[in-house]
Amino acid sequence: MMDANRIEVIQADITRLQVDAIVNAANRSLLGGGGVDGAIHRAAGPELLEATRKLNGCETGSAKITSGFRLPAKYVIHAVGPIWKGGDRNEPELLKKAYMTSLELAEKNNCKTIAFPNISTGVYGFPKEKAADIAIDTVKKFLEIHHLPEKVFFVCFDNENYKLYRTILNK
Ligand code: ADP
Repeated sequence: MMDANRIEVIQADITRLQVDAIVNAANRSLLGGGGVDGAIHRAAGPELLEATRKLNGCETGSAKITSGFRLPAKYVIHAVGPIWKGGDRNEPELLKKAYMTSLELAEKNNCKTIAFPNISTGVYGFPKEKAADIAIDTVKKFLEIHHLPEKVFFVCFDNENYKLYRTILNK
């Protein structure tokens, strides 16, 4: 069994967290955008855009890693979740893959701590409860068979997600 203390739900601004890696809910261009993506680019400084320009974008359901530059976090993992188009366009599997690839990148880069935002649940319109179920299930299963990351933070910005995550994790 996975140690439940390895997962923590917090309500916070992800750009303020002193963890090894924060995950960005990026778009395929990796050139910045609104929501958490915009906040991360503003806080990391222009060096982040310089770095992501060199990555040639990223497919939906995958992720790429950069330095955190001016952020307190050492790395930013830019994950591209799916845009919700009704649910029959492979959205659940693509969201799962965005979490999975991020966890694999964190492990490869020796990250002990990682913080996820609620990927795809903002502008991308993924139903929040479905997204929370997928995020939690994917992380739990990964932690059961991997030593790293040691600790995963689910960072909820809005109250609705915060309550959802707390409810699901306390079941
Ligand atoms: P997406 O395009 O993947 O839906 P958004 O940035 O629109 O990405 O939303 C993803 C989630 O990030 C939403 O739950 C939103 O409330 C949250 N969010 C926005 N700003 C921040 C922030 N500074 N820290 C953590 N989460 C944030």
